[in-house]
Amino acid sequence: MKSLKELYCIGRGPSSSHTMGPVKAAKLFASENADADRFEVTLYGSLALTGKGHQTDRAIKETFEPISCNIIFDEENESMPHPNTMDMKAYKKDNEIAFMRVYSVGGGAIKVEGRPDIDTPDIYPENTFKEIAAFCIEHNMRISEYCFLREGEEIKAHLTTVWQTMKHCIAAGLAASGELPGGLHVERKAQYLFNQRHIDESEATRENRLVCAYAYAASEQNADAGIVVTAPTCGACGVVPAALYYTQIKKGFSDEDIIRALAVGGIIGNLIKTNATISGAASGCQAEIGSACSMAAAALAELYEMGIGQIEYAAEVAMEHHLGLTCDPIHGLVQIPCIERNAVAAMRAINALSLANFLSGSRKISFDMVVETMHETGRDLAYQYRETSEGGLAKLYQKKKMSIKRQMP
Ligand code: SF4
Repeated sequence: MKSLKELYCIGRGPSSSHTMGPVKAAKLFASENADADRFEVTLYGSLALTGKGHQTDRAIKETFEPISCNIIFDEENESMPHPNTMDMKAYKKDNEIAFMRVYSVGGGAIKVEGRPDIDTPDIYPENTFKEIAAFCIEHNMRISEYCFLREGEEIKAHLTTVWQTMKHCIAAGLAASGELPGGLHVERKAQYLFNQRHIDESEATRENRLVCAYAYAASEQNADAGIVVTAPTCGACGVVPAALYYTQIKKGFSDEDIIRALAVGGIIGNLIKTNATISGAASGCQAEIGSACSMAAAALAELYEMGIGQIEYAAEVAMEHHLGLTCDPIHGLVQIPCIERNAVAAMRAINALSLANFLSGSRKISFDMVVETMHETGRDLAYQYRETSEGGLAKLYQKKKMSIKRQMP
């Protein structure tokens, strides 16, 4: 497995696979063709169908600036080897001088066709939860200590920056109000939810409101192209920060404690990324929000210093009950259902932790098995439900809008 530095990336939203990955590809292509006088980029699959909503075209054009770039959205070609494929051409005096095909494979990572993976070293020799647990038990260490052993102490500095960025993101989201961009007229709600926190109701209701406010805050920043941390993706960037921030304030955990928790959540995200996928275009929202929920549940379990079996159970429960979750963002924007979904998943992570506290001894499903199941389920999901905005809520919303338009005088 790779370093957690490749999982937790800091960058601009709204989508790791639709903005961060294409920007990385465009930077690489531009650097290799510095003498080009214009570029052309063709987007296929999910990039073509939801690229406008995700602002893929804007992000690519800005990267090539000041050299001009023409973007083509090819919505017809369904035979691409990866659902997030982009072709780039460089021209000089109308002659094509270079071509590159790139797959944006999730979490901001890319693969260039015909080239070896842009390879970074494998940091972890263990690639399954079972192997990691066996190592930790043999050496009498916690998963967070295992992470620091494999990565070296410097990972703590990266995780500290990650945590600071997550907190800034929540603070900025709570301070903002108004409508999100994209034409769906979605109002920001984080501040409103946060301001309801003193209403005198049960503790559970107050907890719900605060956790949701934090998740909305981070996710609304993402939708507004703010600076976020992929955890594991931009679309799912509100789950881990919301669960950890709420718990830190409630229980007084230090930032050092949170770094431990982020390390364990990161190991869980890394296992999913290595053995399945964290890409909504590849496997639906279960791969994004399901993974984020699993990471958050394991991170919380580490905060409370639960055992390895309980950490595994928390991560497994959190993923299991997202199996089959489709990706159907309306208008291709990372807003509906994405923002609300982050809030629900943050609460679900807290519920998974609670179950793990009492029931981990009786479990029958391993974390590795649920990851494999998610991967298989993702392969079985119809194309319409893998970040194409051609099925589910995206389709029915559009249909309803058209029928209202037709009825208007
Ligand atoms: S529905 Fe889920 S996977 Fe799809 S864009 Fe929204 S958050 Fe990402």
